[in-house]
Amino acid sequence: MGVIVVTGIPGVGKTTVMKKAAEGMDIQFVTFGTIMVEIAKEMGIVKDRDGMRKLTLEQQKSLQIKSAEKVASMGNVILDTHCTVKTPKGYMPGLPEWVIKKINPTSIVIVEADPEEIYNRRANDPTRNRDPDTREEIHEHQQINRSVAMAYAALTGSTVKIVFNHDNKLENAVKQAVPVLK
Ligand code: AMP
Ligand code: MG
Repeated sequence: MGVIVVTGIPGVGKTTVMKKAAEGMDIQFVTFGTIMVEIAKEMGIVKDRDGMRKLTLEQQKSLQIKSAEKVASMGNVILDTHCTVKTPKGYMPGLPEWVIKKINPTSIVIVEADPEEIYNRRANDPTRNRDPDTREEIHEHQQINRSVAMAYAALTGSTVKIVFNHDNKLENAVKQAVPVLK
């Protein structure tokens, strides 16, 4: 299987879909943001995961590289991360060339939903400090992610699979994702 990269904009439900798809399979689930935040906390530069995209670009890039090195040593994993991260300076590639080549995934999964659905999910998630994007901004972010995912694929020869996670259709999303894990 190798490394399967799972992406999707905040609030789309990528973690839920992929955890369910991997149920009963002997696959380790790794969250890139968690590795990054652990390193950032050790360095004393961040308090919580939603503070990370506000760090300087240099800090975020350095955390990406350190985290990618850790992931590259882990073998077969599902890696939960982002195609792009929305920073105050614009979209930052979550897997720039020097990161994606280290990770060298077999497949990249993009979990998507309608902007309206994502907007409502974010509004109803009190556990996170999500950004208050409009539906138009959510749409734009998903478009950007599709194109950058294909660029990552071109650099590594991985496939890209789009999985739709519409409201009340989790089972359907899981069915779309399972073949990628085989
Ligand atoms: P998540 O829990 O998936 O939303 O990840 C938490 C945070 O980790 C994100 O908001 C980003 O700041 C950071 N993060 C996760 N993956 C990446 C990545 N590939 N590149 C840069 N930052 C990332
Ligand atoms: Mg998540």
